[in-house]
Amino acid sequence: MLHEFAYHRPASLEEALGFLKEKGSAATVFAGGTDLFVNIRAGVAKPGTVVDLKGIPALRTLSWDDREGLSIGACVTVNELLQHPETSRYYPVLHAAGEELATYQLRNRATVVGNIVTASPCGDFGSPLLTLSGEVVLLSADGERRVPLRDFITGVKKTIIKPEEIVARVIVPVTWAGAAGGYEKLKRIKGHDLGVVSVAMIRHNGAIRCAVSSAAPTPVLLPDMPASSPVKEVQDKAQEMISPIDDVRCTREYRAFMVNVFIERLMKHLESARQEASA
Ligand SMILES: Cc1cc2nc3c(=O)[nH]c(=O)nc-3n(C[C@H](O)[C@H](O)[C@H](O)COP(=O)(O)OP(=O)(O)OC[C@H]3O[C@@H](n4cnc5c(N)ncnc54)[C@H](O)[C@@H]3O)c2cc1C
Repeated sequence: MLHEFAYHRPASLEEALGFLKEKGSAATVFAGGTDLFVNIRAGVAKPGTVVDLKGIPALRTLSWDDREGLSIGACVTVNELLQHPETSRYYPVLHAAGEELATYQLRNRATVVGNIVTASPCGDFGSPLLTLSGEVVLLSADGERRVPLRDFITGVKKTIIKPEEIVARVIVPVTWAGAAGGYEKLKRIKGHDLGVVSVAMIRHNGAIRCAVSSAAPTPVLLPDMPASSPVKEVQDKAQEMISPIDDVRCTREYRAFMVNVFIERLMKHLESARQEASA
């Protein structure tokens, strides 16, 4: 039988944060619900009250400015991000990863923030946001804190978020705005599917940044390397840093192999894009 829970839909941030402070871990917030309700149905999540954030206008904001960068509110859906002109103009890696997440219908509900808070090793936004130095803005009734994404996700489906906190938004700073980028994702089927392994890469000012998902408990960010580095050097660095496992979807060896394939493919793609742009 489905676990029973109460439903609460606050109309403002103040109301939501006050409610969370009072209820603590008995309350669980959600936006799209595409992870949370699957978990409730599976018996993995058993919240006392689910708190629907979609009635809070302040969390729906998606904006760009050339000082802060891109600000993605908690209730911004993946399709809203994909339709936002500055996302594809300044952060093509983010756009490419968003297009790989599930189906059009699901992307109408699923949010970027929900994806990050779920912290699944195969989540599609972890690695691109790592390459772009994404930051997470956490809010509670006691105030705000801003944490780099690399410190926010700490393990498989684990983050530093406290029960009384919400993620208000994710910020993608201007540092890497305009960087050419690409995202490669291995799936078991041609249609939509969770990633078996995926690689995000950006190239900017003669440097490349690469991050790998589904090959360790958390997405792995490689150190910045010169864009002129031999492919093998980048592949060797990735292999040194990942720790893929065998599971029902893939072997450890195949994951490691595909990381190398994707690194080579992305480096070639970004180099030819550079040559075309300068021709
Ligand atoms: C059929 C199907 C296919 C899928 N395919 C993919 C795929 O290809 N790639 C992929 O990466 N994912 C996939 N997913 C997983 C899911 O759709 C994504 O992770 C999605 O981005 C989650 O967003 P959401 O808004 O629905 O999250 P929700 O379910 O609303 O929330 C997810 C988690 O985050 C917490 N949370 C949400 N918002 C906040 C907030 N503002 N502050 C604090 N905590 C918060 C919730 O409590 C919950 O624990 C799939 C899911 C389904 C059902």
